[in-house]
Amino acid sequence: MDSCDVLVRGNGLVGHALALSLARIGLRVALQPAGPLQPSEGDGRPRDDVRAFALNASSVELLQGLKVWPSLPIHATTAVHDMRVEGDVPGAALEFSSWDQRVGELAWIADAALLERELAAAVRFSPHIECVAASATVDAPLTAVCEGKASSSREAHGVGFDRRPYGQRAIAARLTCDRPHSGSARQWFRSPDVLALLPFDAPAPGASYALVWSVPDARADELLAMSSDDFNAALNEATGGAAGHLQLASERAAWPLLRAQADRWSGAGWVLVGDAAHVVHPLAGQGLNLGLADVQALTDVLAARESWRGLGDERLLRRYERRRLAATRAMVEITDGLLHLFAHPAPMVRELRNRGLTLVNQWSPLKRWLSAQATRG
Ligand SMILES: Cc1cc2nc3c(=O)[nH]c(=O)nc-3n(C[C@H](O)[C@H](O)[C@H](O)COP(=O)(O)OP(=O)(O)OC[C@H]3O[C@@H](n4cnc5c(N)ncnc54)[C@H](O)[C@@H]3O)c2cc1C
Repeated sequence: MDSCDVLVRGNGLVGHALALSLARIGLRVALQPAGPLQPSEGDGRPRDDVRAFALNASSVELLQGLKVWPSLPIHATTAVHDMRVEGDVPGAALEFSSWDQRVGELAWIADAALLERELAAAVRFSPHIECVAASATVDAPLTAVCEGKASSSREAHGVGFDRRPYGQRAIAARLTCDRPHSGSARQWFRSPDVLALLPFDAPAPGASYALVWSVPDARADELLAMSSDDFNAALNEATGGAAGHLQLASERAAWPLLRAQADRWSGAGWVLVGDAAHVVHPLAGQGLNLGLADVQALTDVLAARESWRGLGDERLLRRYERRRLAATRAMVEITDGLLHLFAHPAPMVRELRNRGLTLVNQWSPLKRWLSAQATRG
């Protein structure tokens, strides 16, 4: 392909979703990876990503519209009906339930590797999308940069990226449990750790979790170096047996954590989308949700453009940036604020944050508002 309407650079989840979404509004899309095409794009095998993502209702709606959600195998998604967030003193907790919030489910947990595989398959079958080689030169009025946090195109456009590492890593793994998860997600804020158990139906149907355990770098090194038995013991000690007895059911993998925001999201002929524009701590499970909301917003803006406006028109692209900036900045600040609040060692702050949790738990309107933000994005 020598020319197209939109060149999507970056074939992660957001790049794939954007290519499909733009193809659905009739645009001709070229999708360009960073290097040689990955095995998952060639032979349909999932990549080895042990993560499972919490997706909100808006993300699921988008994936349904792209016909990706319905083609996921049944064990690839699990509905969350309850969520319990615990502080670092006994009894301080915030609880949400889909029943109280009057929604079908609070969120869905989706297998990262299978989601990526289905997105890649949908891209392969789309007549409007061509996957081009990393070295190809493609002429397009608009380039959508979906290259993730280490994007080189972002740098080439001279965009500042305010990157602040947390000195923490998130350890992810799959677990099995001796008790059913009953659709309940659990999270513990135990200064400075944040540990989340996301209910999942594989490998043990109804009795598995996806783990995301954020810990300081030195502790991450220890946890990764431990034998499985020692890791299981540390994990069960950290959760106090509240979810049942947990056991590793996969390899452990770790991601360095940071917050980051681009100081500009668009210019003449280019836009940033997904982690290329913003990175948040995974404690609220919102990074991909924000990226998919970017995809929806950019699609809407391009679809509604005046007939005389080109796809790379700077003013048009600024509409997209304006639509996404406030919500994204708010999410970066909220997750950052929560992390610092719960990592603060001072006894007074500890007392206040735990009381705060209990108070919010008793204040239904605020709880409903928080829940709506998390479920709709
Ligand atoms: C442990 C953990 C748990 C998480 N849990 C959740 C969750 O529960 N819910 C949620 O919503 N989010 C979650 N996230 C966040 C989520 O993983 C990311 O926000 C999301 O995957 C970002 O997708 P992306 O496509 O923007 O970027 P990436 O996944 O980084 O993809 C970028 C792609 O671009 C390619 N690329 C790089 N440079 C170039 C180049 N120059 N040219 C072409 N291609 C290039 C890369 O190879 C890659 O394929 C979690 C993150 C972590 C670390």
